[in-house]
Amino acid sequence: MPELPEVEVCRRGLQPEVTGELILGAVVRSPRLRLPLPATLGDTLAGQRVVAVRRRGKYLLLDCRGGIEDGCLIIHLGMSGSLRFVANDKTPEKHDHVDILFARQTLRLSDPRRFGVVLWHALGEAPHPLLAVLGIEPLADEFTGDWLFAVTRGRAAPIKPVLMDSHVVVGIGNIYAAESLFRAGISPLRAASRISRERYARLVAAIRQTLADAIVAGGSSIRDYVHSDGGAGCFQVDCAVYGRAGESCRRCGGVIRQVRQGGRSTFYCPSCQH
Ligand SMILES: [Zn+2]
Repeated sequence: MPELPEVEVCRRGLQPEVTGELILGAVVRSPRLRLPLPATLGDTLAGQRVVAVRRRGKYLLLDCRGGIEDGCLIIHLGMSGSLRFVANDKTPEKHDHVDILFARQTLRLSDPRRFGVVLWHALGEAPHPLLAVLGIEPLADEFTGDWLFAVTRGRAAPIKPVLMDSHVVVGIGNIYAAESLFRAGISPLRAASRISRERYARLVAAIRQTLADAIVAGGSSIRDYVHSDGGAGCFQVDCAVYGRAGESCRRCGGVIRQVRQGGRSTFYCPSCQH
């Protein structure tokens, strides 16, 4: 499943290709994704110029101006979605559900499992409900140790599910939560309310670094990501704890432990993380 770093790499790949470009229209071969595609999408997009490519959580936002109404094309890759540029005359394959047509190339969404989302949101309307519920961006300046300390007062839940709650902070998936907690030396089982301000500062730094490392790892293959026929792309993250149950900790030599937390697997080193 594409995680925040993959989506950010995708955004960085799209930005230079589509910013300032005119959209000629759209082809919707299958409107049945996670949410039904608007029937008028082609008409709405025709004549729009892309002025910016943003990201909010795992949503890609293409700001468009100059068509029948100004607004934003919202794309979520779901479980299995991928975007790539293809020649305008390239024959679509089975799971190629949506094309956004530009003069020089076509941006094609492939999504075998159909959990993706493609929506139009008119400028000036209230924030889209899908976006309005999202928490803070982990790479934003406002995401600090002090902020995380403040919002976790009175929270008895363990820190790991709190980090993975997109109403609190977006885009920290299971792997990134586990690796960040290891880097910060914090046990995933510790109650969120029982972590000091200083340790939260270390945790925020670890989260930023872990995500940044994944973005850099993906950035080296950025052209492949949007230009090849490959899938959504899972980054090679060098995991210290995730998926390493029973193996030895690279820091202390102890044994990495695996437990279940809220239906998800959690990996940590009981010696290094408290
Ligand atoms: Zn250890």
